[in-house]
Amino acid sequence: MSQRTWDNQPRPARLEERLDDDVVRCHLSPRNCRIRPGQHGFCMVRANRDGRLVTLNYGRSVHATEETIETEAVFHYAPGARILSMGNVGCMLNCDYCHNWKTSQARHVEDKDVYHYTPEEVVDIAVRHGIKVISWTYNDPVVWHEFVVETAALAKAAGIVNLYKSAFFISGEAIEELIPVIDIFSVSIKSLDPKYYRKITKGWLEPVLEGTEQVFRAGKHVEVSTLMVTDLSDDETTAREMATFVGERLSPDVPTHFVRFHPDYKMTDTIRTPVDRLERARKIALDMGLNHVYLGNVYDTESTNTWCHRCGQLQITRYGLNADLVGLDGDGACVGCGARAPIVLLPDARSRTRVPELPAEGLDLARFDWHGDVRALHVQVRNTSDAPVRAYHRRYGDPAAEQSWQVIDLAPQESFRYIAAKSTAGEVGVQVAVPSQCTSSLHQVFDRAHFPTVEASAGTLNEDVSPLPLFQPRTRS
Ligand code: SF4
Repeated sequence: MSQRTWDNQPRPARLEERLDDDVVRCHLSPRNCRIRPGQHGFCMVRANRDGRLVTLNYGRSVHATEETIETEAVFHYAPGARILSMGNVGCMLNCDYCHNWKTSQARHVEDKDVYHYTPEEVVDIAVRHGIKVISWTYNDPVVWHEFVVETAALAKAAGIVNLYKSAFFISGEAIEELIPVIDIFSVSIKSLDPKYYRKITKGWLEPVLEGTEQVFRAGKHVEVSTLMVTDLSDDETTAREMATFVGERLSPDVPTHFVRFHPDYKMTDTIRTPVDRLERARKIALDMGLNHVYLGNVYDTESTNTWCHRCGQLQITRYGLNADLVGLDGDGACVGCGARAPIVLLPDARSRTRVPELPAEGLDLARFDWHGDVRALHVQVRNTSDAPVRAYHRRYGDPAAEQSWQVIDLAPQESFRYIAAKSTAGEVGVQVAVPSQCTSSLHQVFDRAHFPTVEASAGTLNEDVSPLPLFQPRTRS
């Protein structure tokens, strides 16, 4: 194994308590690890160095990636918005089914998958690419708290919205530091069963619920989701308990998502959640009085759409990670009855420059066809030249859908990663066109809020694999 260097630049950590004999206690998560000199906390990314608490993953991230806000189980804020997803290394939990275990479990993380960012660089990427939302996501943002707080403050000053997607096993005092800078909290509540939390996540339930209430009471935009793990948490009791929590301790208006599980990490010997169980959970929550209940990681269902709660007008249609506003006016009012929808709109958060045709020469073309449950792709493009260049992509195969090319402007030497996700049932795949000064790699995405680390050409199916489309020189007919 290659030498590991990503964690060798410790920085002072917040939320430190100094104890006798150079021991420190970390107050970032409810675990409150008591750490002796030279040792790590449970998350493996906070440690005691010479009697002081340090963070080992400041600015250590997976590749910054442009996605859509639907990736984060956020349906009522800026639908369809492009977001800049930032993930890091480590976690304060260790869920048996983790969909991001290659980054959340720090011992598995290799230097090749770790990128170094400063707060200024993150904000600069968002600004240059016209991205209005930064999402702190993937493994879990709790464990790089210092970097999140500093960068989110900088982003906020630049007019960018901050989204925090987390399992939210975090202390109340850490939440107080997030509240001034985070606008949206998407909280993943794994179950409402304390025994489940102890056994499957290695954490405990009540701090998650209390933290969710804390940000809701602070007036933040909150959405909650539950991963419905086959035969573990996809039962009617979980749906009822979730609806009770949302209805009684938050509000029936809080969007609630039941999310489909796929086998991963230590749970590869089970099956995906049967869709009828998800639909059943949704019906139970709606019958119990919740107003907005959605399914996640499910296609070809109306249970991902938004209707007006007052007149029944269809307002937003969704397909996978894409959203279309079909029944809201520019001010967010229902076109059916005029009532204001409980949805925050963000002007210009969706659009990219588009062109009808590609330049005549100088581009290599690749095609990737959706197959099975692979309906999204991370495209990583690196400009190896000292001049700005343009890359392009478009959807193909559905004559009724938009056929123009989206433009990706790359600065000199810039590496940029973005998601392309299937947007209609008839769509066959995507086409990517890059100039010869660029290197490119493709990474299949299996369900949302998941960071694939393995290139499409390597490994086995359990390692984020799909057939690699080869880039071919483009010839015009
Ligand atoms: S963040 Fe949580 S798991 Fe990590 S050291 Fe602090 S208390 Fe322990």
